[in-house]
Amino acid sequence: SADAALREAKKSSRDSYFFYNNELHQQLLKKVSTENELQTALYNDQFVLFYQPQVNACNGELKGVEALIRWMHPERGIVPPSGFISVAEETGMIRDIGWWVLREACKRMKHWHDQGAPKVPISVNLSFNQFHDDTLVKKVCHILETSGLSPQYLELEITESTMAEDLDRSLRILKEIRALGVGVSLDDFGTGYSSLSYLKSLPINQLKIDRSFVMDIAENNRDQAIVTAIVSMAEHLWIDVIVEGIETKEQLKAIESCRCQVIQGYYYSQPLAERDFTVKYLA
Ligand code: C2E
Ligand code: MG
Ligand code: MG
Ligand code: MG
Repeated sequence: SADAALREAKKSSRDSYFFYNNELHQQLLKKVSTENELQTALYNDQFVLFYQPQVNACNGELKGVEALIRWMHPERGIVPPSGFISVAEETGMIRDIGWWVLREACKRMKHWHDQGAPKVPISVNLSFNQFHDDTLVKKVCHILETSGLSPQYLELEITESTMAEDLDRSLRILKEIRALGVGVSLDDFGTGYSSLSYLKSLPINQLKIDRSFVMDIAENNRDQAIVTAIVSMAEHLWIDVIVEGIETKEQLKAIESCRCQVIQGYYYSQPLAERDFTVKYLA
């Protein structure tokens, strides 16, 4: 409980100033109660996955699917990741939640393939904590085995900031992941500090151009130039590109003129509940 955690924290700290600082105290209480709530949520099956199609920009053909977590909160309704992922990271709860996501996504995609859905990969976001779990590769292996999904149909989405802490380790882990046959996608590409050096040194097979380059692309020549350059660079490196966050026909037009092939965005489809995805792709 929150009280027990506080007592424990007090005992283990000699810096009593911290605990007399009311604001920090409140923050800690809130964190502990959210942690409890997240644990309860996981235990009571309150998390669900939504699935957003990644499609060929020209003809809408399905190329992949990103799994995106939602919290079906009994009082607050549907809570998006922005409402709980960062606390889950801070408390470490993201590990249990994240492994649940991976298991669920792999099982679901295997099931859809068996039912005759297009044979495309499922993309799963990997959190900082998961990436720094030393049993990561073993866990991924195990989940692929138990779900029966072939590794070529799993794509792990990782951000630059997740890998920045220890580049040598990141390189080693990514090599192991790729050796399994699993894909690695650089998420939110272009928002970090050293995107290009990551492309140079890490074995990634896909990058996702961040939505911030797309928002004004219909009017902004500079965004068009940047996206065109990223696409052409990626082509030379044999890296696939997905453009995130296409919302309008005008943005789609601008993207096509940048020779972008695969898009993910509200213009084509919102993230879909499992049943809606089934209706759309298995009917
Ligand atoms: P992300 O991985 O970059 O995922 C793309 C986000 O952009 C999703 O938000 C998606 O709903 C949203 N999006 C897609 N198309 C459009 C569009 O046309 N316009 C706009 N405005 N937004 C669009 P969502 O689902 O709220 O997820 C936000 C972030 O939370 C994700 O960003 C990812 O970083 C994180 N996340 C989501 N699910 C998981 C998960 O299972 N595990 C972890 N560790 N993180 C997750
Ligand atoms: Mg992602
Ligand atoms: Mg992204
Ligand atoms: Mg993002």
